[in-house]
Amino acid sequence: MSLIKDKYERVIDYMRISITDRCNLRCVYCMPADGIKPVDFRNILSYEEIVRIVKTGVKLGVRKVRITGGEPLIRKNLPYLIKEINNIDGIEDISITTNGLLLKQYVRQLVDAGLKRVNISLDSLRPERYSEITRGGDIKKVFEGIQEAEAVGLTPIKINMVPIRGFNDDEIEEFAKITMKTAYHIRFIEFMPIGSREIWSREKYISSEELRQRVSEVAPLMPLKIRRSGPARYYGFENAPGCIGFISPITHHFCNTCNRLRLTSDGKLRPCLFSETEIDLKSALRNGASDEEVERLLRLAVEIKPEGHSINHEKSFDHLKPMSKIGG
Ligand code: SAM
Ligand code: SF4
Repeated sequence: MSLIKDKYERVIDYMRISITDRCNLRCVYCMPADGIKPVDFRNILSYEEIVRIVKTGVKLGVRKVRITGGEPLIRKNLPYLIKEINNIDGIEDISITTNGLLLKQYVRQLVDAGLKRVNISLDSLRPERYSEITRGGDIKKVFEGIQEAEAVGLTPIKINMVPIRGFNDDEIEEFAKITMKTAYHIRFIEFMPIGSREIWSREKYISSEELRQRVSEVAPLMPLKIRRSGPARYYGFENAPGCIGFISPITHHFCNTCNRLRLTSDGKLRPCLFSETEIDLKSALRNGASDEEVERLLRLAVEIKPEGHSINHEKSFDHLKPMSKIGG
């Protein structure tokens, strides 16, 4: 089995693929109220193009794929794509990141097609606030989606929450306490200065360190070692069935274990979330690139993967595309 390492000895075995930049929500920190002009459908990679890229990635050493967006569940025939990727020899894990609204409807088909894991984004447990944050989202649908995901065995359920000071941070403790009753993974993600400008400010950002401190005031927290923990650092309350993860894109602990390449919905290969450097795979594919050429471009992306990023909470990085465009 092949294995590819970058200049900094990181094994690159994970591809995060955005299949759409469109979304059925307008979360205030991610998108402006009237959305972002979407990429024309003709410029979105087809499922066949995505599968070809994944096959080439597998030759290099990619073993895990996460499907994201925008909202991945709004793209037609997602089970077909999952199935095609699952059929590629060498793929060990396929997951999705979703806002959960359409999960109830599709999760069985997705699991039948080979989906192994799901991360659900949920920034409030209160129906009214959830609707405010997402500009109209119905939290009941998310809860139903979570239940259905559990029912079909997509466990452990992972919930991603972005705490924002003065906005939803009064729910941090409540989210953490969920792990005392259920085997969920509750993961707190540092608010990043990208996406919608309406909400971001330095004061609203909460570091993982501060989050951990606050959660440890609920009850003592113990560090946990979890296999395939990805960018999260995990902790747990004593005897709790669930666990609590902290994901720190801003205060690092993130880059030195980064094992991924990102593919945007319009076919750009991005070696790093925070760098605007992109390799245009779509043009290469549509101009008749051979398999060798596609492989060369993937190797190039690994070669130029930066050691880390210099983004911090001091200023907004206006030049960065929003997460819905890159694939969160
Ligand atoms: N629509 C899907 C969802 O919401 O799960 C997938 C795409 S969304 C861009 C992926 C993740 O990015 C979500 O968990 C969202 O909370 C996160 N995200 C978006 N903008 C962010 C920001 N400025 N800071 C931190 N996380 C952000
Ligand atoms: Fe859509 Fe996800 Fe962005 Fe919310 S965070 S607007 S659900 S892409």
